[in-house]
Amino acid sequence: MKAEIIAIGTELLLGNIVNTNAAHLAEGLASVGIDTYRQTVVGDNPERLKEALEAAYEVADMVITSGGLGATGDDLSKETAAAYFGKKLVENETAKAHIREFMENLGRKLTENQWKQAMLPEGSIALQNSNGTAPGFILEADGKTLIMLPGPPSEIVPMFDKQVIPYLREKSGEILVSRTIHLAGIGEAAVESELHEEMLTMSNPTLAPYAKEGIIDLRITAKAQDTEQAYRMIAPVEQMIREKFGVCVLGADEDTMESVIVSLLKERGWKIATAESLTGGWVAGKIVSFPGASEVFEGGFVTYSNEAKMNLLGVKKETIDTYGVVSEETAGEMAKGAAEKLGCEVAVATTGIAGPGGSTEKTPVGTVCFGVYINGKIQTSTVRYTRNRNSNRDFSVIGALNRVRLEILNDNI
Ligand code: ATP
Ligand code: MG
Repeated sequence: MKAEIIAIGTELLLGNIVNTNAAHLAEGLASVGIDTYRQTVVGDNPERLKEALEAAYEVADMVITSGGLGATGDDLSKETAAAYFGKKLVENETAKAHIREFMENLGRKLTENQWKQAMLPEGSIALQNSNGTAPGFILEADGKTLIMLPGPPSEIVPMFDKQVIPYLREKSGEILVSRTIHLAGIGEAAVESELHEEMLTMSNPTLAPYAKEGIIDLRITAKAQDTEQAYRMIAPVEQMIREKFGVCVLGADEDTMESVIVSLLKERGWKIATAESLTGGWVAGKIVSFPGASEVFEGGFVTYSNEAKMNLLGVKKETIDTYGVVSEETAGEMAKGAAEKLGCEVAVATTGIAGPGGSTEKTPVGTVCFGVYINGKIQTSTVRYTRNRNSNRDFSVIGALNRVRLEILNDNI
């Protein structure tokens, strides 16, 4: 099944608002296995909408529109659409009841304009609007489907998610199930080249990569008759990914870097401390964002200046003078200091140059040194990120936590 999305609104054409509705609809259609063939934007103009509908149905079986359903007189979309199918607008009892219920809940009286909103093309299925008066509707005619939805995101999003998606799911008779495998500590290019063949040839399930701040997601999507069958199709692909990427596999679906770290520590009964320079507390913040962090997170130090590193963490002056403040030696001493001060089995430290300033010949912008302390052993490493200041800091957070993860896993062997 092919669909076209038509967003109606002169404001969109003028660039006054961003077409977020189209993005939401397209994502939802993809989730039920319907291909969006094209997205169009037309102004509030019946003639153009008519042309857009004609062009859309030349290639698509289904058109979903957003906007132009309101009570204002210039909202002519419904009339235009009804005329396209040779239908009349008639009062829809369900729509009328929804509007009455909505207004009664607000304790307001209905205006004449609002009644007009209950007029829908003959044979339409009314869609209830939980955040406004304009109903949406689904019309099936001449082997085509038309779904018209209101413009305000607060209205269209729940209407689409709660009423249209289930309808489409039932209509297609097939379901889509996705499972996402998260990879860390590997670059996008490396992942793509490892899976190049599979991504090109696989059609069901499909495999698609998404990269964000140091984590690469591989989404496996299967189309099947039921959920169990879909999971049976996904399992061998997941197995293949796990074999290919080994320890780079962080987890799946709702697993996150922080949830994985927290559970690794919890399993061992260990506590963690942080010692941060360029990340300024973000590593600690990331750990704490996961509920249950209190069982494993003891505390952290934000030591931005050399003095803070020396006074709070016991980093030696000679270490900074000899190797520099951005050095593996300093990172190692920071981690050790944090672990000892707070009596933790594990600690992680970051020190680096986020940019844009601060570059030296030896340590260019983006250089970050990590230190991981585990039960007396210290591991250090250096990387160079090439993004802007805060993106370098984001990557450093994931980089630091991934090193903790790998060292904990390593410690077992
Ligand atoms: P109303 O009853 O509010 O008039 P409507 O269905 O007629 O609803 P429009 O008048 O087209 O919808 O749009 C109402 C508002 O919804 C716009 O001012 C805009 O803020 C938002 N909106 C409309 N279309 C979109 C879109 N495609 N993406 C994001 N927001 C949109
Ligand atoms: Mg309007």
